[in-house]
Amino acid sequence: MASLSLKHIYKVYDGTTKAVNDFNMEIRDKEFIVFVGPSGCGKSTTLRMIAGLEDISAGELRIDGDIVNDVEPGDRNIAMVFQNYALYPHMTVYENMAFALKTAKVPKDIIHQKVTEAARILGITEYLERKPKALSGGQRQRVALGRAIVRSPKVFLLDEPLSNLDAKLRAAMRAEITRLHERLGTTFIYVTHDQVEAMTMGSRIVVMRGGFVQQIDTPKNLYNHPANLFVAGFIGTPRMNFWPATLRREGNAVHVKLDSGSTLTIDYAILNHVQPRYMDGNHPVIVGVRPDNVIPWRAGMDPAEWARLPVTVTVVEALGGETLVYGHIGVAVPDHDPIGEAAESTQPANSGGKSEAGTPDRITSDTIIIKAPADYEAHRGDVVDAAVSLKKLHLFDRETEASIKPRIPTENVCLCTPEGNALSFAGQRFPLPPALCGVSSPPKRETAPAELSLPADAILLGTGMGRAKVEETELLDADGSPRTLYRLTVGGVTLFALETAPPRYGVGDAVPFDLDFSRIAVESHGIKPLRVENALEGRFTKEKETDDRGRRVYRFYLDMLDQPVSAEESLCEKLFSCKGTAIFRTPLSYRFPPDAVTVTPRQREPDKTALPGRVTRLLDYGRVTYAEIDVGGKTVIAPYDGKAGESRENAAVSLVIDQTKLTVVDREADIVIV
Ligand code: ADP
Repeated sequence: MASLSLKHIYKVYDGTTKAVNDFNMEIRDKEFIVFVGPSGCGKSTTLRMIAGLEDISAGELRIDGDIVNDVEPGDRNIAMVFQNYALYPHMTVYENMAFALKTAKVPKDIIHQKVTEAARILGITEYLERKPKALSGGQRQRVALGRAIVRSPKVFLLDEPLSNLDAKLRAAMRAEITRLHERLGTTFIYVTHDQVEAMTMGSRIVVMRGGFVQQIDTPKNLYNHPANLFVAGFIGTPRMNFWPATLRREGNAVHVKLDSGSTLTIDYAILNHVQPRYMDGNHPVIVGVRPDNVIPWRAGMDPAEWARLPVTVTVVEALGGETLVYGHIGVAVPDHDPIGEAAESTQPANSGGKSEAGTPDRITSDTIIIKAPADYEAHRGDVVDAAVSLKKLHLFDRETEASIKPRIPTENVCLCTPEGNALSFAGQRFPLPPALCGVSSPPKRETAPAELSLPADAILLGTGMGRAKVEETELLDADGSPRTLYRLTVGGVTLFALETAPPRYGVGDAVPFDLDFSRIAVESHGIKPLRVENALEGRFTKEKETDDRGRRVYRFYLDMLDQPVSAEESLCEKLFSCKGTAIFRTPLSYRFPPDAVTVTPRQREPDKTALPGRVTRLLDYGRVTYAEIDVGGKTVIAPYDGKAGESRENAAVSLVIDQTKLTVVDREADIVIV
């Protein structure tokens, strides 16, 4: 058994270089995780922090539930395999493999049994008496793996273990390591800059860039649903075609106007994950389509599925099994060199900067790669017709580079009419809760429709005045906790609802729904979501006190705006393990969501378990009432019931914060510590 939990992990070198920023991941037992990204993106640093070879600057690392930030590498029960094998040249293969066990004083007969078994698994039995220099690269790498296997570690860490091998051997060793993982049934974490290696080996892949995690997903989801332009460009060869464009919706059709001049027309149903604001004809987007989904046009192709684009051919590459045709969209001869650009753009990115494959400054509007059959004939200068699969288009915001056609649409945006005390959208009319009544502007004679942002998990199914029909359900299993995505139609409008539960409605069901009004936004009318996070500045302090038995002991406090609150032991443990005693000198910000706070009327003078506050305003959201509470001059938002009949405004209250829901930020370095 070995699960790993990485929470807010940072690595800061020399107090300034952030090599790894806010790395968060839950790794399940027996997973094969691959960290991939261009060189310098922080893969090795993260792996070395897991191994204990590098200090963790901030954050919490757990193995099987235990915090191991301060545990010595040798006590983590982890084995690491390096790129350069790191074998002892003067020892035989047998001695190399036995070395760690010998040092740990394991009995000789058990060492023998383990070494011979590992040698058998790896097929190196006949080399056991040889010295490393008498082995090939592949054999040495097997010995390095064998040295790790004999220790029966909980976790295998592999840092570019195949990069010193030639291409053929790499492919063979890849398959061998995958088999080894299946056979050992242990958790593997594997670092590589090679996306093909990542895609063929990982059960889940972490794509990193410039010290930041870009996406964590299965190979299939990374390929089919890249979260941003970088991931789209980094995963897959030849690289995805990228074309700057704008989108305009007309009824059931969406016109994708490429900057290079051509227009593709798509059925709106295919793009129903895309927020309507991108379809106004102005918003700059990037269209992405993999060469796999661009093929030569054939007579009789269905125009609802395939768009036809004229292409001027610049280079033809016959690869034996298939032919890659490079060119530019259109029939005019370009004044730039699409051959070089298209060829260059097929290389995966290998630098940490902005000017790498996948970023817009290399997107030149009209280069295209077509994947054609092996016997396809075309020559430089020919004009051919390409067929682009409309169902396989990816779309990205040109400025943020994020996908605007996400696999999981977390936000619905639709038109609505706010009327002071009601909100109408998609043929439904909801009375606004008191907290929002009168917030929106009074109705004008010609009420202009406004844009409503409605998070998918703010649609509450099963209760309420709304009426929806379920069109589709999809079970999403993220990190083992089931979530269900429902595609609904509500008065002819498509909405997505997301629940943290297995599916409980079926296709065709009519389902009532309510809204969590504290999460909606109608920006033009001043309706904003309730703040989701409270933040109080403070420090971490200690006091020498006398316990009940008269002993002098240290007690630890979260000092929030000069109000000491007793720190729970588990939180102290985390803070010390991340920062040591430097925690006492660090300016902090304590952050917590409203539902981490329990508010009670203040019965007695404040003690050190609760923060004293005063209610300044009540916010009645119908299902829940929140209070704005003044705490030392700062406002905290928390759910608040009070007692029936009592005047609750201006009430003196005590706030108890659930410290397991607390995020502690180093204010100076702007780093989440826990
Ligand atoms: P990768 O494994 O993805 O190639 P690394 O994790 O080795 O990248 O490095 C991440 C970043 O941290 C790089 O910018 C690198 O220059 C920097 N870095 C690595 N080690 C040190 C160090 N000892 N001191 C300062 N910077 C370092």
